[in-house]
Amino acid sequence: MSRFFSKKFSALTPYTPGEQPRDKKYIKLNTNESPFPPSPGVIRAVLEEAATLQLYSDPECTVLINKLAEVYGAEPERIIATNGSDEVLDFAFNAFCDKENPIVFPDITYGFYSVFAEKLGIPYEEIPLKDDLTVDVNDYIGINKNIVIANPNAPTGIALPLSDIERIVASNPDNVVIIDEAYVDFGGESAVKLTEKYGNLLVVQTFSKSRSLAGARLGFAIGSKELISDLHTLRYSTNPYNVNRMTCAAGYAALTENGYYMQNAQTVMRTREFAKAELEKRGFTVLPSKANFLFAKSGEISGEELYLELKELGVLVRHFKKERIKDYCRITVGTAMEMKKLLDNIDIILEKRT
Ligand SMILES: *Cc1c(COP(=O)(O)O)cnc(C)c1O
Repeated sequence: MSRFFSKKFSALTPYTPGEQPRDKKYIKLNTNESPFPPSPGVIRAVLEEAATLQLYSDPECTVLINKLAEVYGAEPERIIATNGSDEVLDFAFNAFCDKENPIVFPDITYGFYSVFAEKLGIPYEEIPLKDDLTVDVNDYIGINKNIVIANPNAPTGIALPLSDIERIVASNPDNVVIIDEAYVDFGGESAVKLTEKYGNLLVVQTFSKSRSLAGARLGFAIGSKELISDLHTLRYSTNPYNVNRMTCAAGYAALTENGYYMQNAQTVMRTREFAKAELEKRGFTVLPSKANFLFAKSGEISGEELYLELKELGVLVRHFKKERIKDYCRITVGTAMEMKKLLDNIDIILEKRT
């Protein structure tokens, strides 16, 4: 730390992204990327757009926003596009939370929420999940604080039904409820429709998971005109060109080939259920996932040991040291072939121990 670093950040622990090692070729099941490449139209669009990189991007992302409006059935004024959904989450924490407007979220969830709150000096409360690692909806009914919930949740993969989301939103009319739907395309129920009815609901999604564009950095949010306008105010006060030309073009092209991505999501869901059953045959407890990952613990080997031994064998999964979930590993659902290799390696690891 330099002696110039602002005191307000001196205790800040930044978010730890999943490792992206370069020492050898791994089967990468640790950061919930899509195992499928972007569609051909996306690659063409990016190459074409590259020829105009001397020009700034469209700060309104008009073409992309209009296409999102068509696909998601919301007016363009109710949509904002950002540099990954992490950016729109940051804008939302900035825009709607402060000392007088704290935020709550589950104790086990996306690690960035507490980082944003710490960074911005926002008071926050982590509400424990139930023993089965599900969200207790009653904890949020009429809590009268801002709320962020990932649905499906991460890293559990467990989804809440839309009726529960609606109860939470309806019972907190004077607070903003952010629903982070990073994984919704893998079997969850989206709350986008509810944004027509509830002015306090902000739904956040990303192109990083189901649309194979993690490296392009593209996220978006849908909410009331007023909420979205506030987020634009922050965006124009931070970086009006937050979505670059190539990403804008990639996002538009991806939406014109949406069928390809939704089919890939179906493939991931089938592979997920296959892998879940195979892990259970091997004595694992696997949470019911509506995401592109499985959260699983072995009866035989600790989460950390499994992570380390798999890494040794060339398979990367994610392990979290947090006490409540330290027995688990989060395993991204890759291709069927990748999952077979994972299972073979798990067999090797478990056999060695008996
Ligand atoms: C991956 C993820 C995000 C962030 O995705 P971006 O790549 O920044 O769009 C946000 N929320 C959750 C729960 C995620 O898993």
